[in-house]
Amino acid sequence: MLEAGLAGLFGLLIGSFLNVCIYRLPRDLSVVRPRSYCPECEKTIAWFDNVPLVSYLLLKRRCRHCAKPIPARYPMVEALTAALFFSVVARLGFSLIALKFCLLSALLVGMIFSDLEERILPDEMTLGGLLAGLALSWVVPVPPGAAEFFLMIAGAPMKGHALSFAESILGAVVPSGFLWLTGELFQKLRHKEGLGFGDVKMMAMVGAFLGLRATLQTLILGSLLGSVIGLVYILVTRKDRSTYELPFGSFLGTAALVVALTGQYAIGN
Ligand SMILES: [Zn+2]
Repeated sequence: MLEAGLAGLFGLLIGSFLNVCIYRLPRDLSVVRPRSYCPECEKTIAWFDNVPLVSYLLLKRRCRHCAKPIPARYPMVEALTAALFFSVVARLGFSLIALKFCLLSALLVGMIFSDLEERILPDEMTLGGLLAGLALSWVVPVPPGAAEFFLMIAGAPMKGHALSFAESILGAVVPSGFLWLTGELFQKLRHKEGLGFGDVKMMAMVGAFLGLRATLQTLILGSLLGSVIGLVYILVTRKDRSTYELPFGSFLGTAALVVALTGQYAIGN
């Protein structure tokens, strides 16, 4: 429990950094410089006003300088990242597999909120995450499935690291390729862009981490969430359906979190 608690505290810090990324990456600003500033009055935020969760409450949800409200997204991202890190480490302890799932969770939280706010999935997260997922598959096994089957049929069975890497590649290529084809088809038929290429890159990243089966589950669950919640939202808020852009990446990201944390990984397999 001590380990999980420490992971939770670390998650607060990572969540705080994610908030910087969510604001700055879609605007092509550096995430390192300058130091944290208020997006409204652009005054630098002192360290004691920048403590995750605590400062938000002490400042009564307002900037010390301009008194403009601090968006609820800040404490939400911090608390969510902390809760995810806590639950991953509570289950898996300090281990490589826990590190992999904490990294995946952080990337997904960053993408969910970037897409929700800006309708952008930054390449730093999607493509950077894709590379990290492929590299990590070498040290943390992706469960064998489709690649094992195809390699056996092809008469080139693999084992261990190489097999895991092959599963990771297959997971990265197949569901994202399917999504890309669907988007192209939609564009041909309806003559408007159905989904952004960011969603495709995001699914490639999820696939590299989770392998083929879990990524297909993510795609199905994400599409389901997106169509049901999206439709309800449009009906309730009476938005114009022809111009409203659904944050599909936010739904895919949520689905990926659910699949990753309830699937076979939940038991550390
Ligand atoms: Zn301010």
